[in-house]
Amino acid sequence: MSIPDHYHVLGLEKNRFDSNLTSSQIRKAYRKALLLNHPDRTASVTTLGPSVDEITAAMQTLADPQSRAHYDRELLTKNDVKPRSKHSLSVPLTGLEIVDLDDLCEDVESSTWTRSCRCGNPQGFVITQDDLEAHESTGELITGCRGCSLWLKVLYQPAPMESEEKLSTEHTSAVESDLKREQADGSVT
Ligand SMILES: [Zn+2]
Repeated sequence: MSIPDHYHVLGLEKNRFDSNLTSSQIRKAYRKALLLNHPDRTASVTTLGPSVDEITAAMQTLADPQSRAHYDRELLTKNDVKPRSKHSLSVPLTGLEIVDLDDLCEDVESSTWTRSCRCGNPQGFVITQDDLEAHESTGELITGCRGCSLWLKVLYQPAPMESEEKLSTEHTSAVESDLKREQADGSVT
C-alpha cells in the first residue's frame, strides 16, 4: 500500500522534509488547497485534484509536529520501494511486434535487413550488421520505425550457427568415408 503524499496534496512538494516549514504555513497551504480543489470549482475540470478529505487528512498529519515527524519517517523508508524508472520503462514500447530475422528482407550487399511497417513505410525498420553484433549476447534487438512510433523486436541466432553446420557436414563426410572403406574392405574378401 502506498502512503498518501500529503505534501503534494497541499502543494508543498518543495517543503518535503523542510524543518523550517511552520504549522501556519501548512494551514495556509491547506486553505489554498481547499479553495483550489473545491467541488464547485473542479466540477467542470476533467482532471481530478485531491478530495477535501485528502486535503484535510494532509493538513491534520502535517500541522502536528509529532505526527509530521512520524509521517516523514514513513515517507523516507517506504518511498524507495517504488522506483520511478520502472514506470518510464514500460511507456515507450507501444505496438511492439516480434519477428524472426528471417522475416526481414536482407540486402546482402550492404549487410542490412529491412521490414515494412504497418504505417506504410516499406523500409520503416532497418537493421544493420552492427546492430546485430551489438546485441549478439542476447540474440534479440528492438528497433523503432523511422516513420512512426511502432517498435519491432527481432530475434536471431548469433553467429556460431554456421561453424556448427560446417562441423556436422565434416562429421558426416568422415562417416561416409568410413563406410566406403568398410565397403571396399568387404569387397576385397
Ligand atoms: Zn511505422
